[in-house]
Amino acid sequence: MSSAISNTYGRLPVAFTHGKGVWLWDTNGRRYLDAMAGIGVSCLGHDHPKLVAAISEQAARVIHTSNLYQVPQQEALAQRIVEISNMTEVLFGNSGAEANEAAIKLARYYGYKKGNDLPTIITMESSWHGRTLGTLAATDSEKARTGFGPLPEGFIKVKYNDLEAVRGAGDKEPRVVAVLLEVLQGEGGIRPSDIAYMKGLRKLCDERGWLMMIDEVQSGIGRTGKWLAHQWADILPDVVVLAKGLGGGVPIGAIAARGPAAGVLGPGSHGTTFGGGPLVCAAGLATLAALESEKLLENAATVGAHLKAGLENALKGTPGVIEVRGQGLMLGIELEKPCGVLVTRALEAGLLINVTRDRVIRMLPPLLINKAEADEIIKILVPLIKAFNAEQ
Ligand SMILES: *Cc1c(COP(=O)(O)O)cnc(C)c1O
Repeated sequence: MSSAISNTYGRLPVAFTHGKGVWLWDTNGRRYLDAMAGIGVSCLGHDHPKLVAAISEQAARVIHTSNLYQVPQQEALAQRIVEISNMTEVLFGNSGAEANEAAIKLARYYGYKKGNDLPTIITMESSWHGRTLGTLAATDSEKARTGFGPLPEGFIKVKYNDLEAVRGAGDKEPRVVAVLLEVLQGEGGIRPSDIAYMKGLRKLCDERGWLMMIDEVQSGIGRTGKWLAHQWADILPDVVVLAKGLGGGVPIGAIAARGPAAGVLGPGSHGTTFGGGPLVCAAGLATLAALESEKLLENAATVGAHLKAGLENALKGTPGVIEVRGQGLMLGIELEKPCGVLVTRALEAGLLINVTRDRVIRMLPPLLINKAEADEIIKILVPLIKAFNAEQ
């Protein structure tokens, strides 16, 4: 069938009509266990009554006014983000890429104010920060970058989870102003940072006067069992980038800043027509409130550990399985061979998963998933993996 949509996605042949909790129903009335949550976005699952009520009530009052006026919902959400992140100020946008773009601009402005003629940002191998030109320049994916040059200069890519690589890059390039990283890489294949690396990086940034900027677009908002994944290392970055889970499903992005990063972007230096509007901020407030009142961070930690252990157990000794890894409800299973076909087979078996970097099965279920539902993932997925690995 021909489509009026640009052909930028290889879409699966399924459309969903409605959902409840971790479950989605398609146009034929078939039920699926949603272990992807719209790529880590729908952290409260589907049809969460408090989120639905907040969006409906706000839509009935006022949807959009712009940042030419006060937006009380934006004030309130900024206050909540400051509390959960220990930052001091928040700048809103509409997506993960747009928020990272703001972080990049902030770092550059920070350098510019010090007379730096090429403010340079250190980024990591296998990183993902978005598809705008600036964030593509920060992203390490040949597939995503090819054909879109020239990309902005001012980025140095170093080996991930390797403190000496960062130190060495800084020794060579005196114009470094910031480090940008995901402490638990998502698109890059669910790759965690070591605690010592995160702590060492914080110290190095302090010594050199660099901003430590952490992209928590995928790992943030409770997904790993803490509000933000870097909080497992008990460090305080200078900039935190948020998006995916923040609005429970509505498009929203934000950066939170503190210390040397606070106050860098002044009046007129940055802006957005849509960012931080009443509707999405009401959704964000309801999402954070529900995550808290329903203890979903604790749930992400316990059910995530249960799911990880269950997968490890069931896959132990299976030829072709390299590792189960990740934290909380951000989990990956690395196989020896490319396994994209498993996405379709899982769909046919009633389970929504995804494969990233060709060989890593990824799961980002809603944070309200319970142990029985996690067991259902194991029950469907493990036989598929075993059968796949047994094929020649
Ligand atoms: C998804 C993602 C982005 C990009 O977010 P978009 O909303 O798709 O622009 C950036 N960084 C990380 C870590 C992500 O997972």
